[in-house]
Amino acid sequence: MHHLKPEIINGDHALEELVVGNVRYVDLKQRHPNQTFRRREELSNGQQPFAVILGCADSRVPPEIIFDRGLGDLFIVRVAGNVINDMILGSIEYAANHLHVPLIVVLGHSKCGSVQAAIQGVNGQGHIACLTEALQPALNEAKEQPGDLANNAARANAKIVAEQLKCSKPVLSGLVNEGKLNVVPAFYDLDTGVVEILS
Ligand SMILES: [Zn+2]
Repeated sequence: MHHLKPEIINGDHALEELVVGNVRYVDLKQRHPNQTFRRREELSNGQQPFAVILGCADSRVPPEIIFDRGLGDLFIVRVAGNVINDMILGSIEYAANHLHVPLIVVLGHSKCGSVQAAIQGVNGQGHIACLTEALQPALNEAKEQPGDLANNAARANAKIVAEQLKCSKPVLSGLVNEGKLNVVPAFYDLDTGVVEILS
């Protein structure tokens, strides 16, 4: 587990690594890979993460912990509600195009405060309205569905954002069309710790 160049070469294998890491986390059988002094030394001259995680800023959803990974494994962008704007897209494009990361996971989660704020129509002063506005399409979709509105909206949002990333021209859409990049929506359950893959 101490290779700078991982054996992970494609998006399917990368997703499998994340899934098995999450199973270890849920089963309390974590291995805490790549968290040694040696790993830090190996990484000092470069990085080759195997997945991008676009996750929520929520303190209860830290990707390295819930996927049982370590240094240099995951290229993580976190923003409340896991939505995108140009700067976030730029970060993700860097990972996909320059670091050749084969997988992007858009990770929504249960009981998401940003989604709840969008449901309650929180506006007021400051910039939170930017986030709640970005969540409106997901909210509209979820309103038609039975079950928990906030969790359904978080799932819908992960799918919508994954689709936006796949269609983002020219960089990400190009890599997807060449078969070099997978984009997958997922949903983390705060209570069970399980990450559900949505596609
Ligand atoms: Zn959240």
